[in-house]
Amino acid sequence: MAFVNDNYLKLKAGYLFPEIGRRVSKYASDNPTAKIIRLGIGDVTEPLPSAIIDAMHRATDEMGKRETFRGYGPEQGYDFLRNAIAKNDFTSRQANVSPDEIFVSDGSKCDTGNILDIFGSENVIAVTDPVYPVYVDTNVMAGRTGAADESGRYARLVYLPVTAENDFTPSLPDRKVDLLYLCYPNNPTGTVATRATLKKFVDYAKANDAIIFFDAAYEAYITDPSIPHSIYEIEGARDVAIEFRSFSKTAGFTGTRCAFTVVPKGLAAKSANGESVDLHSLWNRRHTTKFNGVSYIIQRGAEAVYSETGRTQVRSMIDFYLENAAILCRGLKAAGLVVHGGVNAPYVWLKTPGGMTSWQFFDHLLGKAHLVGTPGSGFGAAGEGYFRLSAFNSRANIEEAVSRITSLLR
Ligand SMILES: *Cc1c(COP(=O)(O)O)cnc(C)c1O
Repeated sequence: MAFVNDNYLKLKAGYLFPEIGRRVSKYASDNPTAKIIRLGIGDVTEPLPSAIIDAMHRATDEMGKRETFRGYGPEQGYDFLRNAIAKNDFTSRQANVSPDEIFVSDGSKCDTGNILDIFGSENVIAVTDPVYPVYVDTNVMAGRTGAADESGRYARLVYLPVTAENDFTPSLPDRKVDLLYLCYPNNPTGTVATRATLKKFVDYAKANDAIIFFDAAYEAYITDPSIPHSIYEIEGARDVAIEFRSFSKTAGFTGTRCAFTVVPKGLAAKSANGESVDLHSLWNRRHTTKFNGVSYIIQRGAEAVYSETGRTQVRSMIDFYLENAAILCRGLKAAGLVVHGGVNAPYVWLKTPGGMTSWQFFDHLLGKAHLVGTPGSGFGAAGEGYFRLSAFNSRANIEEAVSRITSLLR
């Protein structure tokens, strides 16, 4: 018999979303008349704006004609898209990122996992707690974590708690770490990092020769003009940070698939013999070896996000979700709950009432109000006692959800 990758056996059983799915299916089959509203998994619900669909139609027609047909494109992405990204997402915010530092891909989930390919297994890794589970699980698979204890914490990971007690602002690691994941606006807490917080982490990374993985999947939801959208808005970040961006939540591409990773030229880490190695070339090597590019049609769709019409349409879609989040926040507060997030992010992070655990509140909400959310403890030990609701839904469902929670807590 061949051998498996034993690291996979260290993954905590019952990954969060399958467990939620199991409980919801059981409840639905036991209670077939219950009208269940799902505010659990973070997936968008609004259709793609017409500017994007039109661009993809045009690109599809090009693929059907000999003169304009395209085969393999550049693995790193077409220039038209890399140029549009550099100009609109970075140059316009005084963040210095050039088109050839942008690697277009089919998703940030894969990029945040794949990036580990170019880093050595001896790195010490820090994550926030709670955290987007992908960062942890991909490190487990890559053999970087050791085994998990009862609370699900892995021996070799460094956890930075983010709770109401520290105003959801992680402290710096109390020891030297090499790789550090930050996600802002944050999934799951819906909170943001100020310029000062990001500066603190950039300075730490500089002082400790660490690399920050900055996941900005929700940057388009930032409403507060003082909050940075990119870590490269912070002085010195080019020397210490890799940034992940995705069109999934910012333009409704969860089913269409397009994202990108920024690896600044000059960013470096060291080899086993202590030599400085350029990470941009290493990632370029990895990307071009293991990836063959995003479909031309999809890249034309992504380019249209930056057109005048596209921008307006995407903005109104984001505003729609943000209004949903505002309705959730207002309604839950009026119902007596303590809520966080939901202002610069499509997630509302609430404190479970009456000292319930996250899973107790999940079962309570499902059983009594037919609402599905995500237990905070599924995102990490420090998420215990919290609960995530997503603003990705129809207005009618959001309003119905608020009214059910209000009745439930009355
Ligand atoms: C949704 C999400 C992403 C985007 O993933 P894609 O693979 O690009 O769809 C990345 N990071 C976080 C934290 C997310 O919630």
